[in-house]
Amino acid sequence: MNLVVVGAAGRMGQALIRVIHQTEGVRLSGAVERSGSPFVGRDAGELAGIGILNVAVSDDPLPVFAAADGVLDFTTPAATVEFAGYAAQARIAHIVGTTGCSSQDDDAIAAAARHATIVKSGNMSLGVNLLGVLVRQAAAALDEAFDIEVVEMHHRHKVDAPSGTALLLGEQAAAGRGFELADNSVRVRDGHTGPRPGGAIGFATLRGGSVVGEHQVILAGEGERVVLSHLAEDRTIFARGAVKAALWAHGRKPGLYSMLDVLGLAD
Ligand code: NAP
Repeated sequence: MNLVVVGAAGRMGQALIRVIHQTEGVRLSGAVERSGSPFVGRDAGELAGIGILNVAVSDDPLPVFAAADGVLDFTTPAATVEFAGYAAQARIAHIVGTTGCSSQDDDAIAAAARHATIVKSGNMSLGVNLLGVLVRQAAAALDEAFDIEVVEMHHRHKVDAPSGTALLLGEQAAAGRGFELADNSVRVRDGHTGPRPGGAIGFATLRGGSVVGEHQVILAGEGERVVLSHLAEDRTIFARGAVKAALWAHGRKPGLYSMLDVLGLAD
């Protein structure tokens, strides 16, 4: 399967190039960065620290997509919306790890999924997707006497908050409680907030250093707490999940899928 990495010079882009190189059944056919990036024209393998692969970084996605079977995309919401349109034109798989998408961005991505096979997830790791299933079960089993809080920590360069993973876990908790996260969540607290609203799912965000990603879901009752957590030690787990998603999506009919579908964890 021929794969393109967009955002090839980024933290995830480089991890994806390394994992593609090590994985049977896939090959890097293209690499894309934004126009004006100092990495355009450089060899993608060299950027990722694995030596020359004879794949030059391009700033012209359309011809690169036309020669590929799938695109791996961990960039920015605006770039991802644009790439989803190109993936739809090329009728190929588009694996989206980008977080921080607005509801308009999500609508545009869903529209592109009429022609592209899109797998989108705020976290591509097996562990977090399994954690999501456990969180949903715990939220359903423990009634509203248990308040649910999601705490996350990431490296100092992360630009969106709460993390896509925190929101994914919050959505699973909300599903367990039978409501939509958007209708019942507290994303920030500051000043005189008054008591905690019953039933809402709360979020707390920590940023610093080089932390790859840490998440805790706390179910806090009277006199006891259940804490479910995931610690990501290496970006490779997300890259491996993305390549797995591409192989799963290859030849599948267009639509919008999640990692739960890829991992067989959807109900
Ligand atoms: P990063 O190091 O900033 O990499 C993003 C790359 O995309 C940069 O090289 C950036 O180039 C490039 N880019 C931006 N706009 C572009 C465009 N229009 N065309 C081509 N390339 C473009 O960030 P990261 O840490 O790799 O994270 C990227 C995204 O993945 C974030 O949203 C993050 O939250 C998410 N993420 C998701 C998962 C998951 O499992 N779902 C895991 C980890 C990270 P410039 O620097 O020139 O802007």
